[in-house]
Amino acid sequence: MSAEAFKPRRRRSGTASWHMSREAVTLSVPNVAQWDDKKCHDFMVEVRWGSLNTVSCPHCGTIGKHYWRPLQKRWKCAGCGSTFSVTSGTVFSHRKRPLQDILASMLMWVNSAAGQPALELKRHFNTTYNTAFTWQHKMREALVRGYNVGLVSGDIEMDGAHQSGWRAAEKRGKPQGSRAVEADVDVKELTATMLTQTGRSKARTWKSGDRSDPEYGGRLPKDRRILMTVRKRFGQRGKGACATRVAVGLLETAPVAEAVMKSFVAIPESYLNTDNSPAYTEAGKRFQEHRTVEHAKTLIGPNGENNNQAEELNWRYDRAEKGIYLNIEPKYMLDYAAEIAFRSDTRRLPNGQQLRLAMNVALNVGESMFWRGFTRGRHRAVELVHPLPLPSKASGPPKGRHPVAAVNGMVPR
Ligand SMILES: [Zn+2]
Repeated sequence: MSAEAFKPRRRRSGTASWHMSREAVTLSVPNVAQWDDKKCHDFMVEVRWGSLNTVSCPHCGTIGKHYWRPLQKRWKCAGCGSTFSVTSGTVFSHRKRPLQDILASMLMWVNSAAGQPALELKRHFNTTYNTAFTWQHKMREALVRGYNVGLVSGDIEMDGAHQSGWRAAEKRGKPQGSRAVEADVDVKELTATMLTQTGRSKARTWKSGDRSDPEYGGRLPKDRRILMTVRKRFGQRGKGACATRVAVGLLETAPVAEAVMKSFVAIPESYLNTDNSPAYTEAGKRFQEHRTVEHAKTLIGPNGENNNQAEELNWRYDRAEKGIYLNIEPKYMLDYAAEIAFRSDTRRLPNGQQLRLAMNVALNVGESMFWRGFTRGRHRAVELVHPLPLPSKASGPPKGRHPVAAVNGMVPR
């Protein structure tokens, strides 16, 4: 065969050679499983405080060499006298599992590049579903509060992607998919008829409080959310993006885009790359330059305009939902999006580094605000959307009470 036959179809990005390389894996689950208690403890201390001896008291903030009590595996603070452990004041506080389980489970979570089902983690550790589920969600919470924060500047891409809100109720119990076309049917006419029919049914289902798509005018399903992505380009061709921020909006409109920019973009010094959605037109004027690409026609404009790094994150989100998480509840969309942003940004780090980075965030954002007491009915009362959080109740019957008694109005036994 000639050399021509092996011509690659697209430019190589080095992804395969990175993943096949020795450097991509620096820590394995059997490694961690062989660590003794001291090694696990030292790893966590070093990841949390960057030092084995000088630590900071989570109660009063005093930094120094506190009194170590080896039997309790706790420090007594030299400042306030309170005691604390390596997980005190972190999302893993009040833990019931050994440190080794937390480290090994988080390493497995980091290793699953597209995302990891809680059921899988449950099987790996033969624990309860709730334990695995809250472990993972505490990690996501840490990323929302400790990673998905701060301004980015430079060459910025932004995009909004429709997510969630399948019209399941409308479709249930009705035949779906394309119907067989008989040979003598005029396909054009049939398509026109079908379009009119959908047009009519749409017109009938409008209710007060429904949101309409600002670009195309259609009615949006109640659970529809827009995943807003902000990505900073690496600056070198072929290196992709290096910093990602995510947000969730109810619509892709100017106020939402403005709010997202306010949270995450240093506007005056940055360049903005978007598709030609009207949401960015006004705000785009405040950037150094606003480059747009008309997605209805092309993915890359005549002068190289594109927002393909933002699209790449959308693709990762789709892959995680379709392949792993299956149905991401709108209320927790930001949590999953932050996970995906972290995985994307750290895609070229060795897995030991990814674990250290994720654990460092998890050990430094304070105690869990969203997941402590989750299984006893303490659920997050808000959905984190831009510009303002929405109140959001727990789905299902009230937790921690007898469901029948609650319905009958009787005193729970
Ligand atoms: Zn103290």
